[in-house]
Amino acid sequence: MSLLYEGALQDLVEEFGRLPGIGPKSAQRMAFYILQSDSVDVDALADALKEVKRRVRFCDICGNVAEDEKCVICKDERRDQTMICVVEEPKDVVAVERTREFRGLYHVLGGSIDPMSGIGPDDLRIKSLLPRLQSGAVTEVVIATDPNLEGEATATYLIRLLSSLGITVSRLASGLPVGGDLEYADEVTLGRAFEGRRTVS
Ligand SMILES: [Zn+2]
Repeated sequence: MSLLYEGALQDLVEEFGRLPGIGPKSAQRMAFYILQSDSVDVDALADALKEVKRRVRFCDICGNVAEDEKCVICKDERRDQTMICVVEEPKDVVAVERTREFRGLYHVLGGSIDPMSGIGPDDLRIKSLLPRLQSGAVTEVVIATDPNLEGEATATYLIRLLSSLGITVSRLASGLPVGGDLEYADEVTLGRAFEGRRTVS
């Protein structure tokens, strides 16, 4: 890093510089913004940072972010218990929720199959999906992995795994921006992809 300040200010510039998508210039700008902010605001930010690590965990059932053993969606008995939508990350749950097309439950894998990075099925929350399908309550699994190579590989693996269980397995309709994340799709496009989902096994 070429920008050098003294002590605490330099520490802050370096910490900001470690955040995703933040280059040295942005890190510097953020550090000076903090330096010029009210103490009250800085305390609120520092508290928010600490609290998120202290309070937020992952749901024991679906892997979504939660502040208890169960997330708000798994706790909600009004949700359609016959459907599970499989997504890669908690942010994808938010993207699907925004469409208001889906009222079922989720299963969050925590990533996607990516041989190039050495991530295989065992590194994802795939095993914990199977017990959820054994009670007979779930009749459809909707696979909503990202429309990119890793998402495709993950979907293919899941379809093969689930095909013998006698449950309807469906995938989102095409039309999502290829190569991106689910979260980049606008609500209307993602909503349509849900509505037009096709059965694959
Ligand atoms: Zn949950």
